[in-house]
Amino acid sequence: MEKIEILYVDDEENNLLSFKANLRYNYIIHLASDTAAAEKILAENSNIRIIFCDHRMPNELGVDFLGRIKMTYPRPIRILLTAYADMSVVISAINKGNIFKFVRKPWMTEEIISSIEEANKFYIATSMLDIKNEELQKAYDELDKFAYSISHDLRDPLTGVLSAISYALGYDKVKPIHELLLLMQGSVLKLDQYIDSLRDYYLLRRGELLIQEINFSQVGNTIQEFYNISVEKNNVNFSIEVEQNSLFKSDLSLIELILHNLLSNAFKYQNIKNEYKSIALQFKVSKGLATISIEDNGIGIANEFIDDIFRLFYRGTDQAQGMGFGLYNVKSAMVKINGKIEVESSLGHGTKFILYIPSK
Ligand code: ADP
Repeated sequence: MEKIEILYVDDEENNLLSFKANLRYNYIIHLASDTAAAEKILAENSNIRIIFCDHRMPNELGVDFLGRIKMTYPRPIRILLTAYADMSVVISAINKGNIFKFVRKPWMTEEIISSIEEANKFYIATSMLDIKNEELQKAYDELDKFAYSISHDLRDPLTGVLSAISYALGYDKVKPIHELLLLMQGSVLKLDQYIDSLRDYYLLRRGELLIQEINFSQVGNTIQEFYNISVEKNNVNFSIEVEQNSLFKSDLSLIELILHNLLSNAFKYQNIKNEYKSIALQFKVSKGLATISIEDNGIGIANEFIDDIFRLFYRGTDQAQGMGFGLYNVKSAMVKINGKIEVESSLGHGTKFILYIPSK
């Protein structure tokens, strides 16, 4: 188990020495002989869970120090060491929430140990609560975005279908009805895509990994076939290179999800005016690490928006009818398989995504 990190602040050298001598086997102990040194230690050691601080010190009273650092270092549990004479100070400090408890001086090691255990339980409970609160906040934020997205992205194609139907009902010739059917098809495809992305979003949140051996030449062949029609339709030069020197294991469906999202963007965000359009997909696998790059010479992304593109429902351009789901799902999938993603882009010139995925 990880050792608990403790900071002990006291101006008496002997107390510092005996604290460390008694406790260093079971805990990581940091010592400070005044509050300035203590603050420096706190700034450099973010894992400190418990602070023991003497009350009567020459430069600053312990109770003032613990009250003062509460805002900057809210996480560590604060314990005051004090003589009986300072009891009224202690009571007011506890009431203000500046300290968790006090320990009477001269302290005994057993009492310190039981305070550590008690403080540690409290630390864990409050940290768990903080994490849950953060998750809850994130869920609320996403729910807000969903409500907005549903009213636009689901509503718009539906409205399109409904109005095409009502027009079609007024015609009795096949040709105009056929044109309206094509419009309807476009809208329904959009809805279908939205539902696909939504399914991926939920799968990524809940699903377990399914680890299997991956042969990237096979993955490359399947992809080549899958994009044949897009290549012809968009007149894009699509190249795939594979160099696999070691065995690789991961979740194939997650890797395919990532590749399809990145590749469909590479096709969608081509520069229509470019005579030579290209997409290059490269797989390199060696020593248990897969490095995959997807490079296009399309419209590119402005530098100031690079950090935004992975946000849920973010769309940077009207060039294609995206949902803003794709890169968010890519990022969630990469987290699940412990991968890292990098992006380099130059507006007007193209974009390159590089994935680093360790074998499981
Ligand atoms: P969508 O494509 O549905 O809008 P994504 O999450 O896949 O959503 O992408 C977010 C945004 O990032 C896009 O709207 C686009 O502005 C930008 N983007 C993603 N990939 C590329 C690319 N290959 N080239 C240029 N822009 C891109």
